Amino acid sequence: MGSITFEEILDKLKNYDGEEVHIMEVCGTHTAAISENGIPSMLSPKIKLISGPGCPVCVTVTAVIDRLVELSMEENTIVLTFGDLIRVRGTHKSLADAKADGGHVRMVYSPMETVKLAKEDPSHTYVFAAIGFETTTPVYAMVLEEAVKENVKNLKLLTSLKTMPEVIRWVVKNGGGIDGFIAPGHVCAVTGSDTFKELSDELGIPFVVSGFEGKQLIMTIYALLQMKGKSGIKNLYKNVVTEEGNTKAKEVVEKYFEVSDASWRGMGKIKGSGMALIKEYADFDAGSIGLDEDHMPPGCCCASVLVGKLKPYECPLFGKTCTPDNAHGACMVSTEGSCYNYFVSGRR
Ligand code: SF4
Repeated sequence: MGSITFEEILDKLKNYDGEEVHIMEVCGTHTAAISENGIPSMLSPKIKLISGPGCPVCVTVTAVIDRLVELSMEENTIVLTFGDLIRVRGTHKSLADAKADGGHVRMVYSPMETVKLAKEDPSHTYVFAAIGFETTTPVYAMVLEEAVKENVKNLKLLTSLKTMPEVIRWVVKNGGGIDGFIAPGHVCAVTGSDTFKELSDELGIPFVVSGFEGKQLIMTIYALLQMKGKSGIKNLYKNVVTEEGNTKAKEVVEKYFEVSDASWRGMGKIKGSGMALIKEYADFDAGSIGLDEDHMPPGCCCASVLVGKLKPYECPLFGKTCTPDNAHGACMVSTEGSCYNYFVSGRR
């Protein structure tokens, strides 16, 4: 940041009195870090941070949950899932509800556990809920790599995998008013910072790649303020993110997945915004195609929160009938969700 000290940066951000600036943090982990570090309170009221669509569980449409619930009720099928997803409601129930009703649902803590479970129990079909962004897709590809190597045929994936660039384009074109993006650090570690270059040029909006520490996020916001009105990528997370990304991770993803359209909560189907299993590995698919419908719980405003049109506390249910202990919508369930983070940190 040239010769300016961090204290001077803090002072400039606190006392900024120019035109209002709207900065979107796209990644759910950034939302959590910004909230935990109390960053909004360190900024001038003219610098507005907006939480974006980067919480994987929150953007998963109910059709995916419904399909998992349905599979869990099949006689010889066991659904495997990571933590947060189990509590997210589908059209009628969550996987936790399905489990209480006798459905076969198990939490897993490590992806490779799924291959081991399936291998040791060939009498059941194991369905792994493969939900996430560019960061987790290589992990699912590695699960497939292991399943192929071990000739495990009773492990399948229900995929709802998404990618960032197209949803960012969608958000800008369907709402706009965003002056800069805090580019997702974990995603960029896989894809490389170059992945946002073309998009930045096309939209004329700057992107700054950031890590997750409070100090780095402050520097990122300051950099975006300096770049306002211009396109460009700045990488402030150079110890983790390179321009080209993780070549090995990208190769393993390309072996098993291809670009597809994907359905997003609150945004509908966005062309080229997802990843689906390639035909050669279709036998590993538990029925992921065509899961597009989304029926949110009555009164839940997640759809508007996810695209930055509504602040979580503007939802009439926020903190009343919807809290982390009694979550009504997905954005309050996940620890990366906007509503959850605004609630636990008191962020405004
Ligand atoms: Fe949905 Fe609850 Fe957030 Fe309201 S506060 S948008 S009901 S998750």
